Amino acid sequence: MAPPTTPDKRPSPEMFDEIIEVKVGKAPEPVKSFYLHKGIAAFYSGYLEAAINGSFAEAKSKVIRLPEEDVKTFEDFTLWLYTRNFRDIPACQEAYDTLVDLCLFADRRDIPLLGNAAITALRDSFAKFWQYPTLQVKSIYQNTVSNSKLRRFIVVYLAYGCDESVLRHGTPELWPKDALWDVLKLVWGREHPIIWTKEKLAAVDMCTYHRHEEGEKCKKS
Ligand SMILES: [Zn+2]
Repeated sequence: MAPPTTPDKRPSPEMFDEIIEVKVGKAPEPVKSFYLHKGIAAFYSGYLEAAINGSFAEAKSKVIRLPEEDVKTFEDFTLWLYTRNFRDIPACQEAYDTLVDLCLFADRRDIPLLGNAAITALRDSFAKFWQYPTLQVKSIYQNTVSNSKLRRFIVVYLAYGCDESVLRHGTPELWPKDALWDVLKLVWGREHPIIWTKEKLAAVDMCTYHRHEEGEKCKKS
């Protein structure tokens, strides 16, 4: 079964019956074991579903190893899995990094609902801090493919939300060539200048950048 892309599809009580261990990280980096409800992990993540119910060794041993994942990101995922909340981070760059990492993690582990929530929270944090995400561009471009919605959102924000002050923040090395080209295509391609203010950014329909089935949308809160 495909993982849900809106909160309308809910888990059922028997999904809390069994526990699995997920070992995250690889020494010398921190390694930590997480104990999750098997049915819940499989319900929200296409990747974990395949690992739990597939014919891999993980399905038999009930231990899933994710050596390439970061412990902190997995803690943030677990918090979201059980509370639907993200940590409240008062520092701008740390908030951006955390939410970008969660978007990338959701992509890798096929957790559309987490990806949708994280990109919306990223937009909210851009509107709150109103600082350009120039330090995150490189990692986004290194970890996504050209049709990625996270890439698209960052590029649109950089093209519509930034002014010349962006040139004072950071150096050319922070900008991959593809990112510059994508921003320029938007800047040169528009007939009239489109300028995102904080308010306009806060009102953007984020379903454009969510992963949904055809015709599906999030309910307006
Ligand atoms: Zn949506």
